[in-house]
Amino acid sequence: MAVPPTVHVSEGSPFELPRPQRYVLPLLDSRRESATAMTFRFSTEGTSFRYRSNQAIRLAFPGVDDPWGPVRSFSLSSSPSELGFISVTCKISDTPFKRALERLAPGDTAEVYGPLGAFLLDGQRPSLFLAGGIGITPFRGMYRYAADTGDPQERRLLYSARVPEELVFRAELDEISRKSPQLQVQYTVTRPKESKEKWNGRTGRIGARWIRETAETLDRPRYYVAGLPSMVQDVVMILTGPLGVPEDDIDYEVFRGY
Ligand SMILES: Cc1cc2nc3c(=O)[nH]c(=O)nc-3n(C[C@H](O)[C@H](O)[C@H](O)COP(=O)(O)OP(=O)(O)OC[C@H]3O[C@@H](n4cnc5c(N)ncnc54)[C@H](O)[C@@H]3O)c2cc1C
Repeated sequence: MAVPPTVHVSEGSPFELPRPQRYVLPLLDSRRESATAMTFRFSTEGTSFRYRSNQAIRLAFPGVDDPWGPVRSFSLSSSPSELGFISVTCKISDTPFKRALERLAPGDTAEVYGPLGAFLLDGQRPSLFLAGGIGITPFRGMYRYAADTGDPQERRLLYSARVPEELVFRAELDEISRKSPQLQVQYTVTRPKESKEKWNGRTGRIGARWIRETAETLDRPRYYVAGLPSMVQDVVMILTGPLGVPEDDIDYEVFRGY
């Protein structure tokens, strides 16, 4: 008899998050998303792994001799609506940890501890997502989840990368947006001159004016910010400063370690 796929979806209040545990999960596959990022899918079949949109995990390769240790945190780039696996998407680098991750072949295992964190999609309110670079990962999961579950809330994503080639998940996000018009996405590129691809879109960082114009189309949105520490700090200062957004309406995930 076929084993039913693992059911990841768990709803409820932030006080009812699934309990983190240690799992040993086999790699299903990996793929290059861009010149600088890769996605790794791990099977959760036959385990009790459950998570909320969109929590994080810690990934460990206990034997790896890395100056900063064998463990890294990653937001999940998968959605709880995608059954039987979880995925992480990360910037490629030449550290022993990342080399061990890149070398994984299907069937090889990694230690996972999770789910972790409370960077959670609010199902009751519209939202404005602000992503810098690889900070797109939890928002890919949230958009996939919103699309798969028919979530009717208006949601907007402003996504910034240095060059268009680094806009990970662009084709998929555009496709989600076409099929679910309440889920909109806009891009900006901060270093268009360094791009090999022609870019006719918006340039420059995510700034106060763009955020304000986008937020005006939403009724009392929650704001979510994810990216490297400097990006998150800049954007949160814009939100709480000139835009006057109450701190309680802002959630952020800082990708420490870059
Ligand atoms: C909640 C959370 C979610 C994250 N999600 C993602 C994600 O989805 N995708 C992704 O690519 N990355 C993510 N990160 C970052 C990720 O955990 C790694 O830190 C990052 O990928 C860099 O790892 P590395 O091996 O390439 O670099 P390394 O240079 O080896 O850095 C890794 C670790 O070493 C520490 N370190 C390095 N240099 C110093 C220094 N000079 N002083 C002190 N400490 C130092 C960092 O704090 C970091 O923990 C996330 C981080 C957090 C906290």
